[in-house]
Amino acid sequence: MKVVSADIVISAVSSKQYPEDALPEIALAGRSNVGKSSFINTLLNRKNLARTSSKPGKTQTLNFYKINDQLYFVDVPGYGFAKVSKSEKEKWGRMIEEYFTGREELKAVVQIVDLRHPPTRDDIAMYQFLKHHQIPIIIVATKADKISKNQWQKHLKVTKETLRLEKEDSLILFSSETGLGKDEAWKEIFARIK
Ligand code: GDP
Repeated sequence: MKVVSADIVISAVSSKQYPEDALPEIALAGRSNVGKSSFINTLLNRKNLARTSSKPGKTQTLNFYKINDQLYFVDVPGYGFAKVSKSEKEKWGRMIEEYFTGREELKAVVQIVDLRHPPTRDDIAMYQFLKHHQIPIIIVATKADKISKNQWQKHLKVTKETLRLEKEDSLILFSSETGLGKDEAWKEIFARIK
């Protein structure tokens, strides 16, 4: 995939602000600090487009990145920050619910998990929420460079089993550090926006 242009067009807090040009959208979700920004930057060949290590407390927005006038990446604020207040969590929940339910342009969600550890309770909840809304899912297990190659299959199996991944969902081994899985991720994304 040759990324000619990738620009943020809107940081939306409500559906009134979503783009109206009807391009397909791929949303990206993951626990805070899992490596979501790094994943976006790796796919887009940018160092710092999606901000890495966003802190809790800053405004939670859905960030729409327009890519080659062809599709949008929609960066969903990270979940699972223990320190976030109940009202922040509720606000997050409403925003996500509004976007994920009935957004016609949404073609699939890339959910990022950490290959090193079994998916957390929050990861499982997110996966089940997406399933409930019948949204196609691409699981990206990142930070593969942090464990040795001969452990990869074992960890992938734990990821699959803990989430109870269904056969229509994809699972991609990934590393932002080495670029492992980048082509496969694009391939999966294109398969979902056709
Ligand atoms: P986000 O909060 O989900 O957007 O996470 P970031 O992309 O900011 O990443 C959190 C931390 O993990 C940063 O220090 C990244 O450099 C690091 N990181 C992200 N992806 C990888 C990866 O594939 N391999 C390694 N070794 N570190 C990573």
